[in-house]
Amino acid sequence: MSEPTEQNKNEGTGPEDAGESSDEERPRKPRKRFEIDIFRAWCKSCGICAAFCPAHCIAFDEEGAPVVTDEDACMGCGWCEIHCPDFAISVRPRKPKIVQDED
Ligand code: SF4
Ligand code: SF4
Repeated sequence: MSEPTEQNKNEGTGPEDAGESSDEERPRKPRKRFEIDIFRAWCKSCGICAAFCPAHCIAFDEEGAPVVTDEDACMGCGWCEIHCPDFAISVRPRKPKIVQDED
């Protein structure tokens, strides 16, 4: 068997050769959005949700209570919901808005 040349070393390894299209050509799916609800009556402001949210969606207000500051950044991982000791936070997919015709 002969040694691979520079040309045949690179053949058949790209996405084009595997029948895949590049990222630029592929249509992107719209990103899923989520809504976050914090039930103040149950929350004891422990701060776990704000401290560990990987997307930094939750911060503290001046009283030290958690507030949703960037709901659009939420990736729906559910970390806050699973780890909240008081079941005081809920994350669910945002419902699409229904736009009525103005006729
Ligand atoms: S983890 Fe739960 S109890 Fe703690 S601050 Fe967040 S919502 Fe409140
Ligand atoms: S679901 Fe994940 S990304 Fe969304 S607020 Fe909770 S921890 Fe943050």
